[in-house]
Amino acid sequence: MQQHDNLIGGEWQKGNSYSPNLNPSNLGDTIAEYTQGDAAHVDAAVAAATAALPAWSTSGIQMRSDALDKIGNEILARKEELGTLLAREEGKTKAEGIGEATRAGQIFKFFAGECLRLSGEIVPSVRPNIGVEITREPVGVVGLITPWNFPIAIPAWKIAPALAFGNCVVMKPADLVPGSAWALAEIISRSGIPAGVFNLVMGRGSVIGDALVNHPGIHAISFTGSVGVGRRIAVQCATNHKKVQLEMGGKNPQIVLDDADLAQAVELSVQSAFYSTGQRCTAASRLIVTDGIYPKFIEAMKARMAKIKVGDALAQGTDIGPVSSQSQLEQDLSYIEIGKSEGAVLAAGGERLKLDTDGFYMAPALFSESGAGMRINREEIFGPVASVIRVKGYDEALATANDTEFGLSAGIATTSLKYATHFKRHSQAGMVMVNLPTAGVDYHVPFGGRKGSSYGPREQGKYAQEFFTTVKTAYTLA
Ligand code: NAD
Repeated sequence: MQQHDNLIGGEWQKGNSYSPNLNPSNLGDTIAEYTQGDAAHVDAAVAAATAALPAWSTSGIQMRSDALDKIGNEILARKEELGTLLAREEGKTKAEGIGEATRAGQIFKFFAGECLRLSGEIVPSVRPNIGVEITREPVGVVGLITPWNFPIAIPAWKIAPALAFGNCVVMKPADLVPGSAWALAEIISRSGIPAGVFNLVMGRGSVIGDALVNHPGIHAISFTGSVGVGRRIAVQCATNHKKVQLEMGGKNPQIVLDDADLAQAVELSVQSAFYSTGQRCTAASRLIVTDGIYPKFIEAMKARMAKIKVGDALAQGTDIGPVSSQSQLEQDLSYIEIGKSEGAVLAAGGERLKLDTDGFYMAPALFSESGAGMRINREEIFGPVASVIRVKGYDEALATANDTEFGLSAGIATTSLKYATHFKRHSQAGMVMVNLPTAGVDYHVPFGGRKGSSYGPREQGKYAQEFFTTVKTAYTLA
């Protein structure tokens, strides 16, 4: 079995043990073994990053841009291979895997340009004969902690801006899916970026992640993952005066109004709720539907869901791959029982599927007649489970959509300009979609949410510089 090691100070270094990376479509298929480090490996990676920082943080922007462009080009040239690896380890379909690898390549190329566009300001002083300059500088050594559901795109959208703006990186990928992050690290290691600027340490979150968050040599933490872990990291970072950026969970609403195009509303609801096995932070799990269209919507959803093919992520014709892990599958199935016990009607799916290969397969589930206060409508399930909430009209739909502790993405299906315009203004989500799925975003514009979904500056696009740089104001006597 092939074994993969950590990248520390430009060297591939073994951890303490190796852990198998299993294919959730076929548990008989082990992809490779990946090393598991501990706090000592984090210490070594932070020391390497600290040593590399003075030269890298003052290096020319052409060098940074060339390296990022090279990384982006290689990812794009290998998108089929990287996308297949991603689908094999995470369980999203091969087409989605290739799409995600393509996105990672595009992100590196975007930030290759972005590091050339960093600018400051020269402003007049309120005092005579003084000049004022406002510039942005790197934050320092940053720790990046990523979840399992986007194994290459989320590492890319943290690593690329971190490097573009002159920071050194210690990256900790999700232990469930280290393969794509390792492949990305290998590409970065050959990009011309000096040893120690980028380091990869694999292992458990409670060990590597915790050591990274509490390390005195780390100046900032960018985390994407669950609310519970994020909250804890926020407290630890505040205590240690570290800059912190958190992207966490969602309970995203998709409103369908009476005047919606029914076929379009069904298609975007299915896409939002079930594609990528519902394992997207932007997935819609609350379908808020007005009275007039409700019966037709439920029937049309059931008919459309009957055509969804659940199968091996790598097989031709699969629409939805398996759930990513045993524990996630158990959580999804437990919410089916919770929904039933709360009085919602299981209108479709929700059962474990036995297919040709032994994998974590589950039929996408739709609850009807669900109440806005039920646990299935308040807690993030993070699987192919959606529930329909019936409301009287737009005002109740809007209030229900906003009645959540989360605020990542929110959608509305309507042909009314009045309601679409009002919703864009009054939705309490960071990203709003009109006649589009709640999931599916561009890479050159800000990504992030409000309330319990996000904390700190936005990720992606030019807004990424807010987190990955720090501002300096310099005064000069003429
Ligand atoms: P998770 O919180 O369990 O893990 C995320 C990362 O944190 C992993 O690398 C994990 O190893 C690490 N970690 C775990 N314990 C830690 C600790 N004590 N200290 C430091 N690091 C620790 O989340 P997950 O199960 O990998 O991902 C699913 C979650 O991610 C969902 O809630 C989903 O909504 C969220 N997510 C959010 C976004 C977004 O942009 N808002 C995007 C994707 C996923």
